[in-house]
Amino acid sequence: MSRRRRIYEGKAKVLFEGPEPGTLIQYFKDDATAFNNQKKGIITGKGVLNNRISEYLMVRLEQIGIPTHFVRRLNMREQLIREVEIIPIEVVVRNVAAGSLCKRFGITEGTALPRSIVEYYLKKDELGDPLVTEEHITAFGWASPQDLDDMFNMALRINDFLVGLFMGVGIRLVDFKVEFGRLYTQDDMRVVLADEISPDSCRLWDVDTNEVMDKDRFRRDMGNVEQAYQEVARRLGVLSESGEQREIKQPKISA
Ligand code: UDP
Repeated sequence: MSRRRRIYEGKAKVLFEGPEPGTLIQYFKDDATAFNNQKKGIITGKGVLNNRISEYLMVRLEQIGIPTHFVRRLNMREQLIREVEIIPIEVVVRNVAAGSLCKRFGITEGTALPRSIVEYYLKKDELGDPLVTEEHITAFGWASPQDLDDMFNMALRINDFLVGLFMGVGIRLVDFKVEFGRLYTQDDMRVVLADEISPDSCRLWDVDTNEVMDKDRFRRDMGNVEQAYQEVARRLGVLSESGEQREIKQPKISA
């Protein structure tokens, strides 16, 4: 790992030069941050689990026709991805009120939303990733109207698919964040799903008990963070090497 050229280091991942031009290696760390970097910690084994969970979800999304940057998993903590130009917008899709939506509008956490809501945040740590409108995004050129249209449509398709997938393993997909990138080929460009989808970037609640199974356990010092990530992986059937574990059980992650 150390001899490869490090292209970028983020809060939870490192990007290394890939084996061929146009590829990168995405390394998943155990580091966790919250509240715009003010809270820092380690969730032991998180990188291994998120690598697996994100692989599984990206592969399933590819199967329904969502283009992604994912090529293949290389080992416990690394995956080969296509190099894309990241669009500096975090796309959040919400099904149930939680987090910043509750604070902003005074809505009780857990309220089912009348329909899925798509929001855009500018990726800019110095500004605390502010909420932005489509007008800001196109006026300042962060994404073109076509990019935005693609991102919006893909985000809703991803949501519809993931809501069902998680419901099948007894998990409510409350909300999640995705990032997209521009993939350039010969003389063509298309917007593809990038980054990761994992309990770091989703709110996941047990359908029966409302037990929190995501990074909010770390953000809110709820304890049993590792166990929650493991339980998500186990329910998705990605804990065993063969990836064939599919038994559904109640979680054992009470705070
Ligand atoms: N999210 C994320 N990265 C961010 C901000 C949010 O992955 O920088 C995810 C978060 O985990 C949640 C969803 O996006 O699943 C909506 O987050 P929200 O706007 O409620 O912000 P928060 O309450 O996490 O600050």
